Amino acid sequence: MAGMTTSTAPRLLLGPGPSNVHPRVLAAMARPLLGHLDPAFLALADDAQDRLRRLFGTVNALTIPLAATGSGGMEACLANLLEPGDAAVVGVAGVFGERMCEVATRIGARVTRVEAEPGTALDDSAMAEAIARVRPRLVAFVHAETSTGVLQPVAQIAAAARAGGALVVLDCVTSLGGLPVSLDTWGIDAAYSAAQKCLSCPPGLSPASFGPRALARVRERSRPVQSWYFDVSLLAAYYGTERIYHHTAPISAIYGLVEALRLVEEEGLPTRFERHRRAAERLVAGLAPLGFSPLVAPGSRLPMLTSVTLPEAVRAQGESALRRRLLDRHGIEVGGGLGTLAGRIWRIGLMGENAREAVVDRLLAALHTELSAG
Ligand SMILES: *Cc1c(COP(=O)(O)O)cnc(C)c1O
Repeated sequence: MAGMTTSTAPRLLLGPGPSNVHPRVLAAMARPLLGHLDPAFLALADDAQDRLRRLFGTVNALTIPLAATGSGGMEACLANLLEPGDAAVVGVAGVFGERMCEVATRIGARVTRVEAEPGTALDDSAMAEAIARVRPRLVAFVHAETSTGVLQPVAQIAAAARAGGALVVLDCVTSLGGLPVSLDTWGIDAAYSAAQKCLSCPPGLSPASFGPRALARVRERSRPVQSWYFDVSLLAAYYGTERIYHHTAPISAIYGLVEALRLVEEEGLPTRFERHRRAAERLVAGLAPLGFSPLVAPGSRLPMLTSVTLPEAVRAQGESALRRRLLDRHGIEVGGGLGTLAGRIWRIGLMGENAREAVVDRLLAALHTELSAG
């Protein structure tokens, strides 16, 4: 096509997201548009909500594909549930917990941080102690910390928060679709995810869910939600039964999401979670002889994102040079470290469609070639 740039060779996306998209999802997104108030589209949006409820483990009516990336979902949860001056306790085990602090602070909340050493999970008792001391209106933390590869146990912290009368917000961006998520069993009031990680859709949607206690809190606010776009009362009027226009729903993105959620259900959650677990195990075992070792202790490792420290030879030649060779010569993208871990680790994502042993073997073979070429 005239004016189109030369197309880039296909990539195997093994970073912290986006992951590769299934051809059925791409095909769904290429379907002709419907209007955002067309009954046929509204039926599809309802279908997306039903499927998201099953995946989130919730009966929350307001479970929707927000037109936003994961950070937008974070902003939506915190902007609705916090008012200036409110106290919040935020667990910080990496960059995304840090981002929650930043967002809550900009809203005007008084934020108390509880930190974990990079590569470890938050300590349940440190969180419980802060909750008892601060008596916050809201407690927020990350289920799967993509910046370090750490899995955060949820139940105890959520129970401590609820016992202290706080609302609980959980970041499920990287966990949803790759690990069990049970919002209602855990007692989570609001949660958000992103389409481009273990759901293997293009970026641009943030599945999000708001429970009855969260919605009651929004009704009791002393001033309107500062963000008009993310005001859940307005969103509920479109995604609920009233069907009142708020913003134009991202039609094609929702086509893609529904197809991705169909793929998830066709596979079955236990099979899907096991596939992620097995792929990660094969990756860790295959990297060991090459000198890469896991940053995170076995019990806390995420299956969909493995963080590894680098062999001396790789650090010596500059880790970004090797990542660039993987990209240029093999079409494989892996992630570098973020924040304090930049230059010290790699983050290898095996998310959604990419959590397969054949994919792991392709990466290992490419690394082998590059490392023996010196
Ligand atoms: C990727 C990610 C985000 C941010 O999502 P974007 O889609 O990049 O805005 C937030 N939290 C976690 C845990 C993530 O992995």
